[in-house]
Amino acid sequence: MSYQSINPYDGKTLKTFEEISDKQLETAIATAAACFEVWRKKSYAERAVVVAKAAKLMHERVEEFARPVTLEMGKLIAQARGEVVLSADIIAYYAKHAEAFLAPEKLTPSSGTAEIQSSPFGVLFGVEPWNFPYYQLARFAAPNLMAGNVVMVKHAGCVPQCAIAFEKLWLDAGAPAGAYTNLLISYDQVNRVIDDPRIKGVALTGSVEAGKTVAGRAGQNLKKSTMELGGSDAFIVLEDADLDKTVQWAVWGKMNNTGQCCVAAKRFIVVEALADRFLDKFQTALAALKPGDPMDAATTLGPLSTESALIKLEAQVKNAVAKGATLVMGGKRINRSGAFMEPTILTDIKPHNPAFREEFFGPVALFFRVKNEEEAIALANDSEFGLGGSVFTKDIERGKRVASRIDTGMVFVNHPTWTTPDLPFGGVKNSGYGRELSSMGIQEFVNKKLVRVDSIDAPA
Ligand code: NAP
Repeated sequence: MSYQSINPYDGKTLKTFEEISDKQLETAIATAAACFEVWRKKSYAERAVVVAKAAKLMHERVEEFARPVTLEMGKLIAQARGEVVLSADIIAYYAKHAEAFLAPEKLTPSSGTAEIQSSPFGVLFGVEPWNFPYYQLARFAAPNLMAGNVVMVKHAGCVPQCAIAFEKLWLDAGAPAGAYTNLLISYDQVNRVIDDPRIKGVALTGSVEAGKTVAGRAGQNLKKSTMELGGSDAFIVLEDADLDKTVQWAVWGKMNNTGQCCVAAKRFIVVEALADRFLDKFQTALAALKPGDPMDAATTLGPLSTESALIKLEAQVKNAVAKGATLVMGGKRINRSGAFMEPTILTDIKPHNPAFREEFFGPVALFFRVKNEEEAIALANDSEFGLGGSVFTKDIERGKRVASRIDTGMVFVNHPTWTTPDLPFGGVKNSGYGRELSSMGIQEFVNKKLVRVDSIDAPA
C-alpha cells in the first residue's frame, strides 16, 4: 500500500488509501481536460473569486489543516500552523497579483507594434514531497490556476490526508471539478500521466533521483518541466558576525521542520576566528532541544517524517564516521518510541568522504572550519547542489559581495534561506531549474506569445 498515513511519533497507522484504477485515472484526466476549456476562458477576476476564497478558507481553518500535518509527518504543531498560514498567503497573493504579472507586455519594434501575451498551457501535472505538505501544493497550484491552467497532483505517499484536504479546499472554494485534482497513483501511473498528450507541463519538487526520472520522462515527451530538487546549503559565518544572533539563526536554519527542508542550513562554514566559540554555543543550543509529542507546544524536537527516513539518516551518519568524520554530538536514534534522531554535528569531513557531497535530510549539521572568506566561498561552491545559502556578517556590503559569488539560486545575508510569496524560489545545478513563487513562478507554464502588427504593404 503506497498511500499510508502513519504517525511518526508513535508508529501507529492512522489510515490507508487505495491507489486509483487506470479507469479512474482516465476519467480524472478527461475531467481536467474538459475543465481547462472552461477555466481558460474565465477572466482573471472570475478566477480570483475562487482562488481568494480558497485562501480565506485556509486562513479560517488553520487548526483543521495543521493537525493532519503533525499527525502524518511529525511537524511541530506551531510550525504546522505557520505552514498553513504561509500557504494561504501564497494563494491570496496570486489571487491579487496574477493579472498584473501576466498583463500583455508592449515591445518597441522598429516599425509597427508588438506585444507579448501570456496564455495558459493546459492541464499541468505536479509531483510533490511531504516535507511541506500544503506549501508545496500552494506554490504550484495557486499561480497556475490563476494563469488559467488546471492542475493534477501526485502527492507523497506518507501525507495522503493532507493531499485530500487540499483538494477538498478547492471544491469548498467553488472551483469546478477538474481544476485541482489529487491523484493517488503509482509510479507507473505517473509515467502514464506524463506521457498523456492532454498533459502539457510537469513540475516536480523532491529528490535528485525522482527529478531525473520525472524530468527524463517529460523530456522524452518534449514537455516543459520545472524541477525543485535537493540542496546542501552553506551557512557561512564570517569573523565579524554577531555570534549570539548567528547561533540563534543557525539553530533555526538547521532545526526548522526537524532539518527536513530543502533549504535547511546543512553545511556550517565558519571562519576560524569564530569557529570554536560558534561550535560550542551551537552544540549547547542543540543539546537543549526537547523531544516529545509534536502536538505538544512544549516539544522542541519532533520526530522525522517516517521510520525509513530515520533509518536512512542514521546510516548516512554512520557511514560518514566510518569514512573519517568526527562526531561532535548525537549520531543515532533517540532511545524512545517514534522516529526520533538525536541532533547531530559532524566535523572533519574531507572531500573523499561521501558525506562531503550528500544531502543530510534531518537534524544533522556538517561543520567546516575555514581560514577566511575566500576559503568559505570556495567550499560553499564545492557542491553539486545549488539551492540556497546564507552569509553572516555585520558588514552588509561585504555580505552582498560574498552572496554574489555563491553559485546557488538564493542567498540570504544575516538570515537562513527562507520563503515568502513575493520572493522567487529555486536552484541551479543538481538543485534543479525553474522558479516558483513571486512574479517569476507564474511565468513557467504560460505561452509567451508574440503578437505583431505590421504594415500590410508588400516589399517593393
Ligand atoms: P522524493 O522521494 O523524491 O519524493 C518526492 C515526490 O516524488 C513524492 O511524491 C514521491 O512519491 C515522488 N517520486 C519519487 N520517486 C519517483 C519516481 N521514480 N517516479 C514517480 N514519482 C516519484 O523526495 P522526498 O524524500 O519526499 O523529499 C525530500 C527531497 O525533496 C529532498 O531532497 C529535498 O531537498 C527536496 N525538496 C526540494 C524542494 C525545493 O523546492 N527545491 C522543496 C522541498 C523538498 P512517493 O512519496 O509515493 O514515493
